[in-house]
Amino acid sequence: MSNDPQIEFVEHIKELFPEIINEKGFSIEVGPGWFHIVEEFIGEIYSQYRASANKAEWLSEFEINSIKEKFGRLRVQFWATQDTEQIRAGYKILNKSIVTCEKCGRPGVLRSDLLWHKTLCDEHYEFAKVDFLRM
Ligand SMILES: [Zn+2]
Repeated sequence: MSNDPQIEFVEHIKELFPEIINEKGFSIEVGPGWFHIVEEFIGEIYSQYRASANKAEWLSEFEINSIKEKFGRLRVQFWATQDTEQIRAGYKILNKSIVTCEKCGRPGVLRSDLLWHKTLCDEHYEFAKVDFLRM
């Protein structure tokens, strides 16, 4: 059993959505404050998979790779040839990351005056500023 919250979260996601998560090359590199957004996003995609008439075909047209933070936002790298309207529903969920602190999940703001863009609550923003000034 690992104490790394990211590794534990990846295991949790694989257990919840085993069919659509590729064992190889799948990674989640975001803070715990965004875990619930990742779970909701994959859950949305998963419900589309469950509803599809031909599951083998659906899977052959979908692959999810890395989930990471980029410029303060939650980014999911995947390819899919499914109906783009369905995939768009997933993107709406990802947009919650720009109003959610990546560290703790409380309401956050996209901060652009740090070394890197980060979406943080007031408290974690203060911590980040102190770290930034020490550099
Ligand atoms: Zn926070």
